[in-house]
Amino acid sequence: MGTKIQINDLTKTFGTGKNAVNAVDNLSLTINPGELFFLLGPSGCGKTTLLRMIAGFIDPTAGSIAFDDKIVTHDPPNKRNTGMVFQSYALWPHMTVAQNVAFGLNVRKVQKPDRDKQVIQALEAVQMAQYAHRKPTELSGGQQQRVALARAIVIKPAVLLLDEPLSNLDAKLRNDLRHQIRDVCKSSGITTVYVTHDQKEALSMADKVALLKDGKIMQLGTPVGLYRKPKSKFVAEFLGETNLIHTKASGSANNTTLQIEAGTFNASLDQDHSGDTLISIRPEAITLKQPGTPNTLPGKLLHSTYLGETAQHIIQLKGAPPIKVAQLNPFAPTTIAPNPGDQVALHLSPTDIVPITHS
Ligand code: ADP
Ligand code: MG
Repeated sequence: MGTKIQINDLTKTFGTGKNAVNAVDNLSLTINPGELFFLLGPSGCGKTTLLRMIAGFIDPTAGSIAFDDKIVTHDPPNKRNTGMVFQSYALWPHMTVAQNVAFGLNVRKVQKPDRDKQVIQALEAVQMAQYAHRKPTELSGGQQQRVALARAIVIKPAVLLLDEPLSNLDAKLRNDLRHQIRDVCKSSGITTVYVTHDQKEALSMADKVALLKDGKIMQLGTPVGLYRKPKSKFVAEFLGETNLIHTKASGSANNTTLQIEAGTFNASLDQDHSGDTLISIRPEAITLKQPGTPNTLPGKLLHSTYLGETAQHIIQLKGAPPIKVAQLNPFAPTTIAPNPGDQVALHLSPTDIVPITHS
């Protein structure tokens, strides 16, 4: 079940001569059958261009795309059997929900009663069956996008392609729909490629994520792998808040000692590092302790921001940029609640320290 997508050395160049831009730059990638695969990255990094080459709307400059073992690189969209969902819902306003969803089946000459049955099944999958006879204008944005999803899956596409499908919706609805879209993709078994610039969307939904910059993959992995083991500054910073600290390393792998002016701390790394080492550690992997606690670094609280479920503290350590600390449950009785100017001690979780090897 599900189609394997194999992309080899794919390039798309827009413009010529001095104005030439590689929107996608010699990119290779395998997407496994049934995978919910995310293309994540800042605006302009080439996500839409890559997705549209997979769909067949953009002709690649070089390289190849295969669905299972069939090369489709220059096939037109209607030869590829893909379903697409865009940021704008693009439903036909004069048709009912059911008619919108039936459209692709009509094109494929699927007759009643099969057609009606498949339309209802697709609407049920997105929990919209009770709205079958409404017009799109009688639906909310989130409901319209669920209809667009039903319309894309009803044809049982080999590959489902979504381009920023939640970007027009408000935050609460986006959250609800994340789970729903993931459920639909996983229960249908359709290989899905999902484009977004929203790291939370990618982390919460994806089986795998390719983080793109300038048409290239900076890092590919699971959400946990990317968040916990970023290899570059770009990946560490794109996926959330982090602290980047220049240290001097000694020792070996899971028994590494890191030194800054404020003191030394332990790190459990995957490999040996020695000498100048840049590390990344997330704010939530640092804990506030009473001054003088063993295995901590002394610092001074600069300021605190209360954010509801967390508090963010900014702490000055000798020999480091201001350190961000995220403190869960800031009003729990055992929580240390310092005031600006107070001396504090920081404990850096050794297994959450990651060496950063390139920019
Ligand atoms: P994303 O979807 O990640 O925001 P795009 O794939 O839309 O990025 O664009 C990638 C790069 O290619 C950008 O620099 C964009 O300006 C350029 N680009 C995209 N489409 C065209 C086009 N039709 N003509 C010229 N340049 C384009
Ligand atoms: Mg785009």
